[in-house]
Amino acid sequence: VVGSGAAGGWAAKELTEGGMNVLLLEAGRAINEATDFPPNPKPPPKNIVRSRILFALRGQHIQARMGGNFYRGVNRFYVNDRENPYTYPPDAPFYWYRGRQVGGRMHTWARAAFRMSDYEFHRPDVDPSRGADWPIRYADIAKYYDKVEDTLGVTGNCDHIVNLPDGHFVERFPVPANNRIFAEWVTQRTGIKIIRSRIVVHSTNRQTIPLTLAQKTGRMVLQPDSVVARILIDGTTGKAKGVGYYDRRTKQYKEASAGKVFLCASAYESVRILLNSACSQYPNGIGASSGVLGRYVTDHVMLGTGGTVSQDFLDAVKTAGEKYVPPSTDPYDFGAYSMYMPNFCGGLKDKNFVGGYGAQCGVRGTSQNWWMLLFGQMEPRYENFVALDRRKKDEWGIPVAHVEMRHRENEFNMAKHMQGTAKRIADACGFTIREGGGTVSSGLETLLFRSLSSRVFQEGGAFYPGSAIHEVGGARMGSDPKTSVVSPYCQCWDVPNVYVTDASCFPSLGFANHALTIMAVTARACDYILKH
Ligand SMILES: Cc1cc2nc3c(=O)[nH]c(=O)nc-3n(C[C@H](O)[C@H](O)[C@H](O)COP(=O)(O)OP(=O)(O)OC[C@H]3O[C@@H](n4cnc5c(N)ncnc54)[C@H](O)[C@@H]3O)c2cc1C
Repeated sequence: VVGSGAAGGWAAKELTEGGMNVLLLEAGRAINEATDFPPNPKPPPKNIVRSRILFALRGQHIQARMGGNFYRGVNRFYVNDRENPYTYPPDAPFYWYRGRQVGGRMHTWARAAFRMSDYEFHRPDVDPSRGADWPIRYADIAKYYDKVEDTLGVTGNCDHIVNLPDGHFVERFPVPANNRIFAEWVTQRTGIKIIRSRIVVHSTNRQTIPLTLAQKTGRMVLQPDSVVARILIDGTTGKAKGVGYYDRRTKQYKEASAGKVFLCASAYESVRILLNSACSQYPNGIGASSGVLGRYVTDHVMLGTGGTVSQDFLDAVKTAGEKYVPPSTDPYDFGAYSMYMPNFCGGLKDKNFVGGYGAQCGVRGTSQNWWMLLFGQMEPRYENFVALDRRKKDEWGIPVAHVEMRHRENEFNMAKHMQGTAKRIADACGFTIREGGGTVSSGLETLLFRSLSSRVFQEGGAFYPGSAIHEVGGARMGSDPKTSVVSPYCQCWDVPNVYVTDASCFPSLGFANHALTIMAVTARACDYILKH
């Protein structure tokens, strides 16, 4: 198994629990509880511009562009961009936020966990030649969603929403009055349904649950500091015989043999490994016979907005008479303790874009700020791709990824619609919308915000591709080897003992955060292997 994040952790757990021996190769370092999780991390810097410059000088010039939790004392869980470069065209920035350590981005994710429905697996609204349709349906994956949720624990309510299937939920913490009233007001005044978000229960165990369970079987060897460069092919059988990798610290080249290879290095890192595996049998890389290796890559169209709530709203919260209790005190709990607006675009008559969008939203803590982070489905398009940039190599001499992903009219129209929805909500509730979602207040901050915003936002207000950190595609699954890289069970058509189970196998994204689906797809692929 290559990579130990959401996909790799689940692959290791399922395969070892099923009786297989697993060598898990992870490019990043092992986690050291004392140094990675000190009890009192540094508070976030006050001057974000100065900090951004400092982080850029230290090699994290891309990672420092994100908001997220990067500044909350966990920049060590994000890659060093100097060691791990990639390229994109000057006119099409792609911001790639990555983690390189045991556990991957499972140390930093916000844990929002939603199921996809048949409205997303089946996409009659998209031109069929784009292949956005998945070769599987909800019924094929439901029991694996159950398994992942039962193992991790997910909070949420059964809301009986057709395009957001209910899961196996546990109840752990109450929704604070401000968020509850926010949801009630929006739903009553606009007819747009707002529900409690669904999030994975926080664990203070610093090793991820799947890795802990895999380790318990005694059948996993977890080897950090192992940067996989390529899959090795047996010249006689044409099958994979293992992988070639570099020791992260000594840069020494090594090989590991295996009967099966599971790529779980994260969407575009796995595509990069497939491309770098070019050899005499597969001159353009493993999976390239389809003609779509690296193609149809997407990310969510992401737009953020917000502002201040009204005095009426504050009065209503006060009248509720509840003391605000923060959901967690662990500084490493980055859970999205918010409300959620499921996609309501399916029923719109005058829509000028395909796909739909959802939003995490609510009122922050005891502040007077309401906020919305909207995620929309981007159209999968052949001309958006990941390839190799052979002129540039990473710290270990491996050719890097080149990503070209552009929003087109569809995404610009969607972003405009998102802004309209936010305004409709604000107007109905008497809230204001403020520049920077209410995060910029002083004159100097506003000036800086305006001068730097073109580096972060596109015309129309959406963030540049990559920013949603929901990158998918490049090795999409399908029923036809001529138009897909892997089978519906993530098995590579070209080399059947290679499986690709991270989000590179997604033909398209649903409207909601997708890590739960990555884990369920991985569990399904493992089940297939164990039964065959
Ligand atoms: C701040 C933040 C918030 C997020 N919030 C959410 C959320 O609320 N909900 C949601 O669904 N998603 C969220 N995400 C996205 C989610 O974390 C990812 O989609 C998910 O982790 C992807 O899983 P993965 O296994 O494919 O990749 P990762 O978790 O990134 O794991 C990949 C692993 O592979 C390793 N690797 C890479 N290359 C190699 C190589 N060549 N050799 C060996 N190992 C390699 C990496 O070091 C890493 O450990 C968030 C992400 C971030 C950063």
